[in-house]
Amino acid sequence: PATSLQDIISHAKEYGFVFPSSEIYDGLQAVYDYGQNGVELKNNLKTVWWKAMTQVHDNVVGIDASIFMHPLTWKASGHVDSFNDPMIDNKDSKKRYRADQLLELKAEEYAANGQPEKGHELLLEMGRLLDAGDLNGVRELIISEGIVDPVSKTANWTEVRQFNLMFSTQVGSVAEDASLIYLRPETAQGIFVNFLNVQKTGRMKIPFGIAQIGKAFRNEIVARQFTFRMREFEQMEMQFFVRPGTEMEWYEKWRDTRLKFHKAVGLPAEKLKFHIHEKLAHYANAAVDIEYQFPFGFREIEGIHSRTDFDLKSHQELSRKKQQYFDNDLDENGKPYGNYIPYVVETSVGADRLFLAVFCNAYTEEVVGEGENQKTRTYLKLHPALAPIKAAVFPLMRKDGLPEKAQEIVKQLRSEFRVIYEERDAIGKRYTRQDLIGTPFCIAVDYQTLEDDTVTIRYRDTTEQIRVPISELKSRIGQEVSI
Ligand code: ATP
Repeated sequence: PATSLQDIISHAKEYGFVFPSSEIYDGLQAVYDYGQNGVELKNNLKTVWWKAMTQVHDNVVGIDASIFMHPLTWKASGHVDSFNDPMIDNKDSKKRYRADQLLELKAEEYAANGQPEKGHELLLEMGRLLDAGDLNGVRELIISEGIVDPVSKTANWTEVRQFNLMFSTQVGSVAEDASLIYLRPETAQGIFVNFLNVQKTGRMKIPFGIAQIGKAFRNEIVARQFTFRMREFEQMEMQFFVRPGTEMEWYEKWRDTRLKFHKAVGLPAEKLKFHIHEKLAHYANAAVDIEYQFPFGFREIEGIHSRTDFDLKSHQELSRKKQQYFDNDLDENGKPYGNYIPYVVETSVGADRLFLAVFCNAYTEEVVGEGENQKTRTYLKLHPALAPIKAAVFPLMRKDGLPEKAQEIVKQLRSEFRVIYEERDAIGKRYTRQDLIGTPFCIAVDYQTLEDDTVTIRYRDTTEQIRVPISELKSRIGQEVSI
């Protein structure tokens, strides 16, 4: 049976991956907390990304900038004036919605009612109107589709307007106007304002990149599809600074490199695709999304954008500080390229969205056994590098020195991998519990272990068990847990 988003949400909650925020107060819309297993999986994803950026490339370094930034940052980036989404209000409920999301919901409704083509056509039409900036056309489409407000069930819609999604707060005295600051809606700007700091102190030579992982905040209006669209989320972004004129070459290189990354963390090629943007944001000269096939359809997980010199140039204008780089490489006439504002190719992926993609992909239900013994086996087929726990060690019995022997093995492995000891319940149940959280290896200690220092390893995906010497455990597990 096909996995639904509801299966994913339930599993994530039941096994300590993702909880609704402040659940005892009935939750907070579009805000989620990661539990004991979720935080491990998410940290592993972030580590893999960080390594893929700063360790594999000798010309990419990391930073960690603050969430709060000088308010002029958002003027320069264009977020204050034009970071906009098409919003529509319902006159009866006084509720505000993102117009594109109302239409997406309608398309899903068509799909759920066995008319996916109709939903697809609706999305195409919406894309055409948004690309053309035809907000009135978007409103007419909402009306002609008979879309009603989910709250008031009426269709008394206002015009569609562009709206700013940044959260703001006050620093210091509340009365002062100048103290209004924003929670960053993207991590990229923390990199742009530190471009020269890093370039100079790190003696970086173009082309080079700066990577960052951090929280971003957007007051998303329609909150749904679980952690796909949150109000507080984490981005993993890398801005790659290049000589103007070479940006398309780098754009293509990073596009391919990033697709490979998603395959390396276990997302299958047939569930990934590029979506090339025809209508470009004001700062971009090329843009492509990497989309993953979620249970609710193909959706963006990462954007790769060629941002030209838009950001550095506007920071230069507003700050009156030169954002130039001196390039002493020689051009075809043997002269140094000299001073210029670099162009930027960025890769931007949501840690939470990637988490959701990886989690959806890992969730597996398999029918096993025959006749009366037939049952569904559920497990998380996570890449071992991402699994919250790498190995669980079980004594077959809680006596005769087996627990002590098992604890000894845990101690040996613990410094290198996240390993747990488990002795409760029958061994079959213990395997099942580890399957449900995606533990790739279970190690069982039995009476033979006491005689010859061998154990059985059971592999999660195949359930195959093999007998190996304890001395081989480190290398066997080690081989599988890296990407
Ligand atoms: P969307 O169109 O889905 O709102 P976007 O095009 O605005 O996304 P970008 O601004 O390019 O997204 O952000 C880069 C990445 O950050 C996205 O590919 C996504 O993985 C992640 N992201 C953006 N908004 C959210 C959100 N509200 N919740 C979770 N992740 C997000």
